[in-house]
Amino acid sequence: MKVAVIGCTHAGTFATKQILAENPDAEVTVYEKNDVISFLSCGIALYLGGQVKDPKGLFYSSPDELSKLGATVLMKHNVKSIDNKAHTITVEDLETHETTTSSYDKLVMTSGSWPVIPPIPGIDSDKVLLCKNWVHAQELFHRAGDAKRIAVIGAGYIGAELAEAYSLKGHDVTLVDAQDRVMPKYFDRTFTDKIEDAYRDHGVKLALGQKVAGFKTTADAVTITTDKEAITVDLAVLCIGFKPNTGLLAGKVDMAKNGAILTNDYMQTSDPDIFAAGDSAAVHYNPTGKNAYIPLATNAVRQGILVGKNLVKLTVKYMGTQSSSGLALYGISLCSTGLTAEAAKEQGIKAEQVIITDNYRPEFMPTTLPVTMSLVFNPETREILGGALMSKYDISQSANLLSVCIQNHNTIDDLAMVDMLFQPNFDRPFNYLNILGQAAQEKLAKAKA
Ligand SMILES: Cc1cc2nc3c(=O)[nH]c(=O)nc-3n(C[C@H](O)[C@H](O)[C@H](O)COP(=O)(O)OP(=O)(O)OC[C@H]3O[C@@H](n4cnc5c(N)ncnc54)[C@H](O)[C@@H]3O)c2cc1C
Repeated sequence: MKVAVIGCTHAGTFATKQILAENPDAEVTVYEKNDVISFLSCGIALYLGGQVKDPKGLFYSSPDELSKLGATVLMKHNVKSIDNKAHTITVEDLETHETTTSSYDKLVMTSGSWPVIPPIPGIDSDKVLLCKNWVHAQELFHRAGDAKRIAVIGAGYIGAELAEAYSLKGHDVTLVDAQDRVMPKYFDRTFTDKIEDAYRDHGVKLALGQKVAGFKTTADAVTITTDKEAITVDLAVLCIGFKPNTGLLAGKVDMAKNGAILTNDYMQTSDPDIFAAGDSAAVHYNPTGKNAYIPLATNAVRQGILVGKNLVKLTVKYMGTQSSSGLALYGISLCSTGLTAEAAKEQGIKAEQVIITDNYRPEFMPTTLPVTMSLVFNPETREILGGALMSKYDISQSANLLSVCIQNHNTIDDLAMVDMLFQPNFDRPFNYLNILGQAAQEKLAKAKA
C-alpha cells in the first residue's frame, strides 16, 4: 500500500507514526514543504516572553525519527496538485525545482491551516508579521529586538498570549480587535473584564471595538488606521484567525463553506481513498452536535492517530471535541470548554448560566485562592453545555473534567453530587466543581419557585 502524507506538523506526524504502527509494510511518503516537522506553535509566546530559552524543545519529532520508523520523508517538497481520479500527486522539490508525479493508494491530507490575511490596503508590509510556524517564530523573536512599539492585531487566544509576552519583555504593546472585548469566543464578560484589567495593569493599551482599515509603512514605522484612531508602531503582528489550507482538494472532496474538509467519523473524506486530519478538516463539535472549524493541536493529534487506525479498515470512531483550551496570562490561569453563554445565545441554543467565585480549599489552610467559575447548561435537559474557570490556582484539570462531563452528556445534578476526593490540602468536602453544579441546581430551583 502506497500512502502519501501531505504536510507534517501535528496531524501529519501522528498519522505517519500510527499508519506505520498499524501497517509496518506500508510505503509511506511524507511531503513537507518546510524544513522542520512537529513544531509546537503553542510555544511561540513562551519563547518570545523568555520562559522557553531553547526553542529546540518545541519540536517533539524529526524527519530522522519518521525515517527510522520506515517512512520516506521528503522535506522541502511542496505538493502542487492532486489528481484523485488517477491517484497521483505532483510535487516540486523546493531546492532543485524539479517536479515529479507519484502515485498513491491512500492519501492523507494534513496540510493544516494558514493565517487569515484580509485584503486591507498596505497589509503586505514588511512590518506586519504573521504568527503560525517556526519561520514566523524566529522572525517574531528577532524583529522584536528593534521594536519598542508593537501592535498585536486580533485578541483571540494567540493574540492575547503574544500581547502578554511582549509586554512582559518591556515593549509598548497595543492589542487591537474589532470585537469590544478580548477572547470573546472563549470567555464571557465576567472573565474578560478581569483579563482586560490585567492587560491595563501591565501597560498594554487595549484598542477594542476598532476595525483595522489600512496600514501605512514608512522606513521606521507602520501606522495602523482603524475606524477610530491611528496607531503608529514599529512592528505589527496579525493574529485574526486561521483558514484551512485545502485548495489542492477544492472540488474534489466535500468541504465546509470555509474550505475545511468534511470527513465521516473515521476521518475519511467523500473520496474513500483520501483521509484528512487536523487544521485542514472540520471537527464534530459535541456541545452543538454540528460540524465546526476549531483549529487546535488537541484535535490534530487525535485525528492524526485515527487516520492511522482507520486507513485500511474503518475501525475507531472520532469522539468529537468540546474545543477545550487554556492559557495563562500574568499568572492567571484561564480555561474553557464547550459553549459560553454568549455563543449558546448566538446559536439559538436554550441555555442558562451560573457564575460563582469560591476558594478552592478551606480558609483555615495557610493559603487559599479564589476560583471564578462559569457553568452553561440546558435548563430543560439540565445537560452541561460549557464551562470556564479563572484563578491564580491551576484549574486546568477542572476544565478537563467539565469537558468529560459535556462529552458524556452529564447533567448539573451529576456534577453537583459526583464523588470527588476531599482533603483540606486540595479542597472542601464538596470540591469547587460540585459547588458549581449545586449553584446551577439552585438557580433552576429558584426559577421554578
Ligand atoms: C501561535 C499559536 C499557538 C497555538 N497554541 C495552541 C495551543 O496552546 N493548544 C492547541 O491545542 N493548539 C494551539 N495552536 C493550534 C495548533 O498549532 C494547530 O491546531 C496545529 O498546528 C494544527 O496542526 P496540523 O498538523 O493540522 O496543521 P499545521 O500546523 O497547519 O501544519 C500543516 C503542515 O502542512 C504543510 N503543508 C501545507 N501544504 C503543503 C503542501 N502543499 N505540500 C507540503 N506540505 C504542505 C505545512 O508546511 C505544515 O507543516 C496554536 C497555533 C498557533 C499558531
